[in-house]
This record gives sequence, C-alpha cells and structure tokens, in this order.
Amino acid sequence: MAALQAAGKRYLESLFGTRVSFDRRERKLYGHDTAEIPSLIKPIVGSTVPEAVVQPTSEEELVALVRWAQENRVALTPRGRATSGYGGVLPVQGGLVVDFYHLGKVLEIDSKALTAKVQPGICWEKLDRELAEQDLTLQLYPSSYPASTVGGWLAQGGAGFGSYESGWFRDNVVSARGVLADGTVREFTGSDLDFLSEAEGTTGLISEVTVKVMPKEQLGVISIGCPDAYDLQRLVERIVKDGLPIWSLSFISPRMAEMKNLAPLRQHVGHPVGERVLLPASYVTTLAFRVKDRQRIDDAFPDLIKTCQAVLLSDQIAHHEWDDRFKIMVVKRLGPSLVPAEVVIPLSSLGDMMAQVEQKVSQPVVKEGLVIREGAGGVPEVAILGFIPCDQRKFSYNFIFALSLTIMKIAEKNGGRPYATGLYFAGKAGRILGRERLGRLKAFKTQVDPSNILNPGKVMQGGLMSSVLSLAAVIEPLIRPLGNLVSSKIGDQPTQPVRDIPADVAWYAYTCSQCGYCVEECDQFYGRGWESQSPRGKWYWLREYMAGREKWDQKMVDTFLVCTTCEMCDTRCSTNLPIEPSWMKLRGLLINEEQRMTFPPFEMMAAALKTEGNIWAGYRKDRMDWYPEDLKAAHPPGGKAKNVYFAGCTASYVEQDIGQASVRLLDKAGVDFVPLGNEENCCGTPMLVAGRWDLFAEIMKRNIGLVKRAGAETVITSCPACDLMWRQYYPEWAKKLDIDYPIKAKHYSEILAEQIKAKKFSFPEREKPVTVTWHDSCHIGRASGIFEPPREVIQAIPNVKLVEMNHNREQAYCCASVLTLLKEPAVAADIGKVKLDEAVAAGAEKILSLCPCCQVQLRVTADKKGVPIEVQDLAHFAAATFGYTFPDPNPEVRKQWAVFDALIKLLTPQGFADLMGTMWPELIDAMPYGMGPMMRGLGKVPGALNLMMPLFPVLFPRLLPLVLPKVMTTMLSRVGEQIEMPEYMSEQMPDLMPKVMDRLMPHMIGDVVPLITQPMIHYLQGKS
Ligand SMILES: Cc1cc2nc3c(=O)[nH]c(=O)nc-3n(C[C@H](O)[C@H](O)[C@H](O)COP(=O)(O)OP(=O)(O)OC[C@H]3O[C@@H](n4cnc5c(N)ncnc54)[C@H](O)[C@@H]3O)c2cc1C
Ligand code: SF4
Ligand code: SF4
Repeated sequence: MAALQAAGKRYLESLFGTRVSFDRRERKLYGHDTAEIPSLIKPIVGSTVPEAVVQPTSEEELVALVRWAQENRVALTPRGRATSGYGGVLPVQGGLVVDFYHLGKVLEIDSKALTAKVQPGICWEKLDRELAEQDLTLQLYPSSYPASTVGGWLAQGGAGFGSYESGWFRDNVVSARGVLADGTVREFTGSDLDFLSEAEGTTGLISEVTVKVMPKEQLGVISIGCPDAYDLQRLVERIVKDGLPIWSLSFISPRMAEMKNLAPLRQHVGHPVGERVLLPASYVTTLAFRVKDRQRIDDAFPDLIKTCQAVLLSDQIAHHEWDDRFKIMVVKRLGPSLVPAEVVIPLSSLGDMMAQVEQKVSQPVVKEGLVIREGAGGVPEVAILGFIPCDQRKFSYNFIFALSLTIMKIAEKNGGRPYATGLYFAGKAGRILGRERLGRLKAFKTQVDPSNILNPGKVMQGGLMSSVLSLAAVIEPLIRPLGNLVSSKIGDQPTQPVRDIPADVAWYAYTCSQCGYCVEECDQFYGRGWESQSPRGKWYWLREYMAGREKWDQKMVDTFLVCTTCEMCDTRCSTNLPIEPSWMKLRGLLINEEQRMTFPPFEMMAAALKTEGNIWAGYRKDRMDWYPEDLKAAHPPGGKAKNVYFAGCTASYVEQDIGQASVRLLDKAGVDFVPLGNEENCCGTPMLVAGRWDLFAEIMKRNIGLVKRAGAETVITSCPACDLMWRQYYPEWAKKLDIDYPIKAKHYSEILAEQIKAKKFSFPEREKPVTVTWHDSCHIGRASGIFEPPREVIQAIPNVKLVEMNHNREQAYCCASVLTLLKEPAVAADIGKVKLDEAVAAGAEKILSLCPCCQVQLRVTADKKGVPIEVQDLAHFAAATFGYTFPDPNPEVRKQWAVFDALIKLLTPQGFADLMGTMWPELIDAMPYGMGPMMRGLGKVPGALNLMMPLFPVLFPRLLPLVLPKVMTTMLSRVGEQIEMPEYMSEQMPDLMPKVMDRLMPHMIGDVVPLITQPMIHYLQGKS
C-alpha cells in the first residue's frame, strides 16, 4: 500500500476538517484493540499505528474517502469502538483508520414492522435507550452493550444476551448498506448479508444497518448453580428440549465465580459501593425470560433441577448476576492482564470440552458462556469466552498466551471453532465461516476490491501472522507445559510506582480492559470526539509512558487536568477502576510535586486567593456585601451558632441571588445558622483540581478554624463544590494532616426536604404554572449521592411541573464547568449545549440548578449557542414563591465572564506574544547589559538578526525575567486597554500580575519565544 503524501493530507483536511488527525499520539490510540499482543508476536504483526484517523459524518463522505483511497492505493481500516480482540481494527498495512464515532444516529424506528434503521457507529446502549422511548427494545445485544457498535457487531459477527431466543446477530439483521471499494453503495439483504457479516470491513464499509427489534417487556431472572459442566449441559439440553420460553441463557464457570468473589467492588471516596454478593463455586447459570412466561418456567423447574443435580440460587444472586452482566471484565483487576480464548462449540460437547480444558490447562481459566438455541446448522451452540489471568509485563505472558491455542484445539476436537477470524485466525476462516461461504466471500472481495484497500490482511487473507499461529498450533503440545508452569499471582496487587506513576495508578493502567464503556459518556470525549481525551485513551497512554515510549509534555499534562471530575467514568467502568480519583492523584503529582504548569487562569485565582481569599479577585472586605441586612440580627455574620452557612466565592461575588435565597430559605425553615463573615475563604476546590495542593491545605485549615470558632457542628452549603469539600475532602485531608475535624456537612436542599417530609415546611402557591427540569450537578449528584432532595423541594412547590432530562441522576451529563470552561471555552460550550438541548427536549421552560459554577457555564453556553432556555438557581426559584426578590445574576455573570474569557486568551503563549507585540520599544529598552542599543544596531545591519535567531531560544528565557519587572507598568496598562476590568480588579492587578507571570513564564517561555522572534526582528528592522 502507498504511504500518505502531503497532497493526500491536504485532501483529507479539506474533506474532514477537524475530523482528521495526523497527531502521533492520537494515531497510536487508534492502532490497537482490547487484546494485548504478546511480545514474541509483536514483530510479526509489525507497526499498527495508522498514518491518520478520519471520522466521517455521512455516507457521502465515506464514498469520497473510498474513491480517493482507491485512486491513491491507501489502506482503510474501519473501527467501531474497538471492543473486539481479534486484530480486525489494527491497520496492519498502514493507511487510515476510519472511525465511525460520528455516524451514530438512529435514522428510523418502525414500531409496526419492529425494525430500527441506524447508522453503524451507534452503540447498543444508546440505541436501546431510544427504542425504550417507544416501548421497544433490542432482540439481542453483546455483553459489550455499553460500548460496542451495531456496525461493529455485524462486521465482526457474534452472539450475545438474547441469542438463546434470537440466534446469531447476523440472523437479526434485515438489511445493511455498504460502501464498496470503488465508491458504489449497495444494499445487502437476505443471503447477500453474508458479504458484510463477519467480513470485518474487508468487502465494504457498512454505512447503515436495519435490525429487528421487539416490544419491551418486563424480564424475570433466575440463577441456577450446577455442580459441573456435564450437569450444566444436561440442564440446558432439557430446557431446549422442553421448549421453555427463555430469552437469554448465560453462565459462568466455578473459577469465574471464585474470581468474581475476589474482585474489588466499585469504590467511592475510598469506600466500597454496593453489597458484595458471594457466588457459589459452581456453574452459575442465569436465565432471563419475559415475566408473562414465569408460570411455565416455575412449573417446569422442580423436575428440571432434580434431574441435573442443580440448585436454584437466591434472587439476590440472580439479580446481581443480571445487573452486572456487562461487567465480566471485573476479574481483570486480579491479573492485571487476561489472555482470552474464545470458541464456539456444539452444546452436546460442553461437558467434554470443559473437562478437557481442566485436564490440559493448569492455569486458572475463567469462563463465561452464552447459549444459542438455534446455532449453525440449527443445532444448539455455546459461545465460550475464556480468560487466563496473568501479567502482560512479564515474558511468561507469551507462554500463557500459547494456552489459548490449547483451548482452541480442544474446541476444534469437540466439533467447535474459534469465535472469529480478524487478523489472528484468518488461517481458520474456512472452519469459522464454512468452506463454501469463504469461497463466495473471496470471490466477492476479488470482484469489488481488486486492489485490496479495505482492511487488508484480515479474515480471508491469512498472511505471515496466521502461518505463525498455525505453526504454533502444531507445536502447541511442546509449549503447553511452559504455559502451565508459569506461576501467576492472582489478586489486586499494586506493588510499586513505575517511573513517577504511583503504584495503584500504575496497576489500574494495566487492569483497564480497554472495553470502552467509559468513552462515549465522558464529556471530555464527546466534547472533542478523540480517544486521547477519554479515560480509556489516558490509561493506554499511561501504559506507553510507563513502558518508556512516551514523555510528559504540557499537552499531556493538560489532558489529565482538563477532566471535569464529573465521576461519570467511575460509574461505568467494567473493571470498577477509581478513574477520577486516579486523575486527581496525578494532578497533585504533576503540579504540586513536579511543579509543572497548571491552567494559567488558576494562577490568577491562586494569587487573588492568597491575598483576598476568593477566586474572583474581589476584595475580602466586600465578601459579605450580598448578605440581607434584615437577617444580620438573627444570623450575625461571624457570630456563633449550631450551623454555619458557607456561601462560597461565586455566590458571594457573582451570583449573589444564590446566597441571598439560600439564607432566606434557611431562615424560613427556622434553622439556627450564621455565615462566617468576611473571613470566609474559597472552599479550595479550584486549587485542588488545579493541583495547587499547597494552597488547598492552607485554605482548608483556615476554614476549619473559622467553623470551630463559630462553635458550629454542621456546615450548610448551597454550592456543590463547597459541599464536596466539607463532606468528603476536608475530612480525608484533615485525617492525613492530623487535624481534628468534628464537622458534618449538609446541603440546604437536604434540610428543606426533611422539613417538607415532616410537614414543618411548605411553599406558597406560585402565580403561574411552569415546567422545569433539574440539572444534577456532578459534585452534589454522583459525588455526594444527593439526587432526590432537590427534586423533593421542587415537587413541593405548587404549580410546578418537574420533567426529567434523558440523562438524569447517576447518568446525568456534566455541564463542563469549570475545568473545560477555563481551558477551552469553545469546547465547554459544545459540551454545555448537549445538556441544554436535553433540557429543551424534555419540554422544560427553565433549567434549575443549585451549583453556581454550573449556572455560570450554562448561562454562558445558552448565550453563546442561542439555546432558548432560562437557567435559574433552585434557591432563587423556591424563595421567590415567598415574595422575595433577588438581583438578576445574568448581567454580573456576563461581565465577570467577559473578564475571565479575555484573561484565558491573554494567559496563553499566543496571548503573551501578542501582548509583547504591543510594547517592543519598552521591552528593547529594558534589556540589560546594554543589549537594547546593540539589538537596535544589529537591526540596521541586513541579515544580522536572522543570523542571531538560533541564539534566541537560549537567550530569551534568561532575559525575560530581568526585562518583565521593568516593563510591568506598561504591560498592565496594555492589559487594561485590552480587558475591561471592574475597578477592584484593576486596582489589584499590579500585585497579581507579577505573581502570575512568575509562576507561568518559566513554563511558557519555550512556546512564547518562537512566536515573538520574527515580530521582534521586524520591529528592529523597522518593518513594523
Ligand atoms: C467486555 C466485552 C464484552 C464482549 N461481549 C461480546 C459478546 O457478548 N458477544 C460478542 O460477539 N462479542 C463480544 N465482545 C467483542 C466485541 O465487543 C464485539 O465483537 C463487538 O461487536 C465489536 O464492536 P465494535 O463496535 O467495538 O467493533 P470493532 O471492534 O471496532 O470492530 C470489529 C470489526 O468490525 C470492523 N468494523 C467496525 N465497524 C465497521 C463498519 N462500519 N464497516 C465495516 N467494518 C467495520 C472492524 O474493522 C473490525 O474488524 C465483547 C468485548 C468486550 C470488551
Ligand atoms: S471524571 Fe468525567 S471528565 Fe473526567 S475522565 Fe471521568 S468521565 Fe471524563
Ligand atoms: S477505564 Fe474502565 S470502562 Fe474505561 S476502558 Fe478501561 S476498563 Fe473499560
């Protein structure tokens, strides 16, 4: 295949704009799938890094791409969500990876015909969610449902939950469209679907799929324990024979049950979430059926179970197994790696197969199985996914990998076959697909893709890779003892840091299964659409870093810092990894310990915080200006009480309606409270997420001291970030720093909800009915589990209708404040719009929130994107029913945000370079050692300054620290001209700016120098 030329790159840029990436790091992330290739095989596979990644948005773009690739002989490798592990998505012959992420829409749901027409890149979970709105659901889905795509499953082939009733996926597809290698588009139906199904994109890029769907009905589940695989086989054969109306039948092996019992539970703030349900060491078989069929199943069961020595397991086990059905990868926590072995066998050999694997493989093979009632040739089949826990970092991984061939051979002896072809088992395509079908597929490929540009080296093209695997299969009996001899430790066992990565984070990086469940719902991913931003991409990058193949640079530091801490990924992870806490740990490591650069606006906040105690650069003396005069007697600021109301910076300085309305409600509810007064400080969240942990600890100590001085037991908050600090971070840090912490945290919505329930508090009637929706801020929702109290408050207000957004409570989308807003305001607006669009789609007139930062972000987004919805604070909305009026926060938000927006632009290399471009005379004059006149002189000698250019990168970092203090006054006046600041801020700038420059310049200078060199030369030469 031909390499990508400059003209090709230009063409791709013109076709895809920002949806093409040539970035080395990004490309690497699109060059692998879920399997870790053993080191001995890697050289045979060769490089799998594509030359570019493209993300088409339409069939037309696919057609244009394929035509161009055909003309230029460039290989195209399609990629759904890369959840497969057969190498099908690896671009083994270079060229482009075609990522289907942006082709992820539902095109049509026909509830009469029971079909859904979709774009290929839609993931199963998303499709099912949309079907549910019409009381429909999927006939079957893979256990990678939270990540994998419809097109990917058709191309790869497979069975899943629901296959007991519905068979292989291929049989549930009505039609599919494919873009062929010459750019023609063809619709495939009936037996022609064989040309796309299991062809892994070698014959065409799937551009549309119509699948069968079914009415959504309530499911019942039962789990049964079978002592051995022969009993399991008998049980299933009986179920098939009796024609029991089962929808899905899956099982796990005793070893898998043992491992699941050992696997860590999901953690939240260092504590396990949920209950551990212990599984018996048996074949735990889970049956899902429609509730309407329950009676038939219940009637048949006593007799059925008796003949198979099985036992009915508890409802708790059944529900646990069903609810956790997508989390098979959790056992990877005990590896940290898994060698997979996936086969399909006839049900009639299940007992023999399992017995022979036990006999020949002494490593613990954990297995999961799915039964297909009508498999190939109409006989029942079992798809078995086996895993052997081990450590990919050790050479012995190669030997354990070879045991997967042992399992494969056992399956073949028992009339089975490998699950799929892909790259590794292309040599077995005849066995997997059947000789006759393979022949037809090859003929079709030759006809439609004679130049072999579509996914070359896969499925039917057994190259060197499959020869080597065929050879390995022959000598398998010789390698097997080596694999069996390897001693692997099983358990969650972080040992030591790797490079500078803490031991636990290093372990997690390897235990990440790369399943992709966390990708699509991470706001950083859907805000930009690139893997590098997703947790999966970050774990993979960390592995590369730990292996010495990557280095930290500012871009990578920023990628970790920009995570909004929304914690969505923690709820989705198939291996229960504490992802967000790991990134939090890295913030401290990178910024606090290694002194790398945090986001520049945080340095401005830090400087303001140090002197005035808040992030908005307001004066400390003005902190309580928001406080209602008439409450001062009953709730004196800085006084003593059982509770402290902690307003936080944004409610104190920007959205003052929040603070005012919150204290009005607390007062109405008869709560004994005082505010901390002007001495209150920022809660520290910005410094925590900025990695400025030195400052965070200092602020925390001051705030704890103030609450103790007030004699309070409880801190009542309105801001979720403040709440998170007082509820979770302060206690944790206080313990770490040995500080006494006798303080509880409570949100005002919890207090009101309690009083409403106790009938001690109620709201008067609103004048006009209104429909509102509730934005679950991440820091009060997912982080602190407060989902219902705010809803209970809203529902207690007469004349208010509460509607829910599509993603709500634990699945609620993040608004993208604060980190994305500070780093990339444009991306923040894209992410925020997703949220606002959901609110509009829910039919809400207002989106209520209680987080000041979310409100700033949502207001800014609504303005920027023109979304017709009002953003209002919950306390403001609720307290207004009592007749209180509050200031409209919008003008202040706009004013303050405009300053921040301008500062964000200024505090970048380009921003600094532009600023310096406005003050060359002053900068040159300020140069030390008489360099100014010398430079001016050289400017007059043609070519002299150009000769000096190589010296500038060395010279400037030394010069600028000496020059900048001398030109600070000019610099401040230029900043003042560019940014319209409130008076109090301009007054503080002479103090703040030098501090900010001191922190930023050492990191930024390298990027600033190339930007200022030429403009400075031009100035000295008198050209500008
Ligand atoms: C936790 C977990 C559970 C799993 N459970 C199951 C299961 O129950 N059943 C099962 O069968 N598999 C399962 N798998 C494997 C995998 O999820 C499936 O094969 C899935 O269908 C792959 O979908 P994908 O979107 O990730 O495709 P990818 O992995 O991206 O691609 C798969 C193949 O299809 C090709 N391809 C992708 N999109 C297109 C397109 N639009 N046009 C042409 N070719 C394309 C790719 O080149 C590749 O060869 C599981 C994997 C994981 C990690
Ligand atoms: S916490 Fe949120 S933003 Fe951060 S990685 Fe997880 S999902 Fe993405
Ligand atoms: S972080 Fe978790 S959810 Fe994301 S790819 Fe890794 S294992 Fe899967």
